[in-house]
Amino acid sequence: MAVTQHPKEEKTVVLIKPDGVKRGLIGEIISRFERRGLKVIALEMFQPKKDQIDEHYPKDEAWITRIGQKTIKNYQTYGADPKKEFGSEDPFEIGKIVRGWLMDYMTSGPLVKMVVRGIHAVNMVRKIAGATMPADAEMGTIRGDFSVDDATAANRDKRGIHNIVHASETPEEAEHEINFWFAPEEINDYKRAEEDIMF
Ligand code: ADP
Ligand code: MG
Repeated sequence: MAVTQHPKEEKTVVLIKPDGVKRGLIGEIISRFERRGLKVIALEMFQPKKDQIDEHYPKDEAWITRIGQKTIKNYQTYGADPKKEFGSEDPFEIGKIVRGWLMDYMTSGPLVKMVVRGIHAVNMVRKIAGATMPADAEMGTIRGDFSVDDATAANRDKRGIHNIVHASETPEEAEHEINFWFAPEEINDYKRAEEDIMF
């Protein structure tokens, strides 16, 4: 019989991106997860290699195409022409170019990696992070409170969108990222003082 884990055991991965680290937002970001009742169970700063970032982000056609589609949607909102910037309107072709810029951005300085655990951790952390395009992100989210970038601006300068944090999108993505970035002994267990009161 399959043993289903308790909802409060769900885990996700957060990376504080180079802009988040360089802007001194590490403490602010972590405290937003902690005060919501999510638990940091692994934490480290490091300088990533390009091949690590290449492994971290999916490379399948569906993922790359989705990045392209998100980009095209952002261009439509602001009346910008993807063909002018990318020489193509094909989401897969656009996604490939964006992925290359993302590699450069993510290796441009140290990252902070962490595992965050708690009730619906994947969705909770995505909500706290806010929308991919900071200019569209709601106030009260990390991206909405501290950043302003979007695809039309970033792509004009041929770079990744500076949006402070990465957060796994699904429990499956989280599992891949936990196994990729952390050894089992780097993941810790402890009880938070307010645990019995909050949940
Ligand atoms: P999220 O980080 O919200 O999960 P995605 O998985 O769609 O977003 O994209 C991964 C990262 O790629 C984004 O966080 C952003 O930094 C970068 N990115 C996405 N689209 C573009 C784009 N059109 N131009 C530059 N960078 C982009
Ligand atoms: Mg993503």
